[in-house]
Amino acid sequence: METKEVKAYGTKAMDAPLHVMNIKRRELQHRDVEMEILYCGICHSDLHQIKNDFGMTMYPIVPGHEIVGKITRVGEHVSKFKEGDLAAIGCIVDSCQECDNCHDGEEQFCDQFPTFSFNSPDKYLGGATYGGFSETYICEDKYVLHMPEKLDLASAAPLLCAGITVYSPLMHWQAGPDKKVGILGIGGLGHVAIKMAKAMGAEVTVFTTSASKVDDAKRLGADHAVLSKDADAMAKYTGQMHFIIDTVSAKHDVNSFLNLLRRDGTLVLVGLPPEPLEVGSFNVVLGRKSLAGSNIGGIKETQEMLDFCANHDITADIELIQVDQINDAFERLEKGDVKYRFVVDMATLKS
Ligand code: NAP
Ligand code: ZN
Repeated sequence: METKEVKAYGTKAMDAPLHVMNIKRRELQHRDVEMEILYCGICHSDLHQIKNDFGMTMYPIVPGHEIVGKITRVGEHVSKFKEGDLAAIGCIVDSCQECDNCHDGEEQFCDQFPTFSFNSPDKYLGGATYGGFSETYICEDKYVLHMPEKLDLASAAPLLCAGITVYSPLMHWQAGPDKKVGILGIGGLGHVAIKMAKAMGAEVTVFTTSASKVDDAKRLGADHAVLSKDADAMAKYTGQMHFIIDTVSAKHDVNSFLNLLRRDGTLVLVGLPPEPLEVGSFNVVLGRKSLAGSNIGGIKETQEMLDFCANHDITADIELIQVDQINDAFERLEKGDVKYRFVVDMATLKS
C-alpha cells in the first residue's frame, strides 16, 4: 500500500523523551477521511502507555487520542464529511462491526477488540497505530465525529476521551436530579465529570487528595468538596452516595469510598491503576453495593456527548502548550501538577 510520511512526536523507549519523528499514514481508502490535526489533549492513559504500565506498549509509540482538526480529504464513498469540516477522533478508529457489541454501538467492547487510535495493531500497515501527536490522521469516516462549531476547539479536545469516559457511566447509571453523585480525583476526567453531572442535575460531591483543589472544585460546579485524607470530613458522607465515579490513576483504598455508597449504590472504576485493588467483602456485601467498571464509550454516544457539551457550554479547563513542551507536561501530569488538562497546539509541530 502506498503511504505518506508525516511528522509526529513520539518515543522509541519508555525512558526516552518524546521527540520529532517521521511516521507513515496509509493511502486514503474509499471510506476514509484525512484530518489535519489542530489540537490534541494529553490523557493519563498516554502516560500509562508511554511507561508501559499495562505491559502492552509497542514502541515506537506516538500517543494522543483526544484529537480535533479539519477534514482535508475524503474518500470517494464518504458522504458524512466534506473538506473543511471540523471533526474529532477519540480512542476508537476501527472495530469489527459484526459482533453484538458493535451492533449495539458499544464498539469499545468489540469482541475482536477495537483498534485504538494509538498503540493498537495497525491492520493496514502492520506495526502499531500512531496517535494524535502528529500532523494528520487517516481513518474510516464512521469513527470520526462532527465537532460542534460552538465549542472552542482546543478546550473541547479533552472531551474525546476524558469527556466520553465520564459521560457514558453518568448516563448508564442515570445521574440526574435527586441523585447524589460522588467523583474521586479531580484531574482531567474528574473535572469534566463535575461539569457534566451538574448539567444533568445531580448533587455533586468531590473527593480529592489535594487541598488546593477543594475550593476549585466548587468553582467547577461541585456542591461539596471533601479532602479525602480528612477522616472526620469523610465520615459525614458515609452511606450518602447513589453513585461514585472513581477516576484515580494510581493504587488507592477503594474500601473507604465504597463506604460512602448508600444501599444498592454503585462505585464505577474508570481510572486504571496498574496494580489490582483490594476489596473487603463487607464493603460490598453490606448494603448490596456494586463495584463496576466502564471504558470510554461508543461512537454514537461520543457524538451525543459532544452535542450535550455544546448545549451546556461544557469544555475542559486547559493549559495550551507547544509540542516541544510535551515532555515537561508529562512530568507535571505524573506529579498531579495540571489544572486540569494539557492540550497541545499541533500547529507548533509544523514550525
Ligand atoms: P489525571 O489528570 O492525572 O487525574 C487523576 C487524579 O487522580 C489526580 O488528579 C488526583 O486527583 C488523583 N490521584 C492521582 N494519584 C492518586 C493517588 N495515589 N491516590 C489518590 N488519588 C490520586 O488523570 P486522567 O487523565 O483524569 O485519568 C485518570 C485515570 O483514568 C487514568 O488511570 C487513566 O488512564 C484512566 N482513563 C480511563 C479511561 C477509561 O475508559 N476507563 C479513559 C481515560 C482515562 P486529586 O488531586 O483530586 O486527588
Ligand atoms: Zn484517554
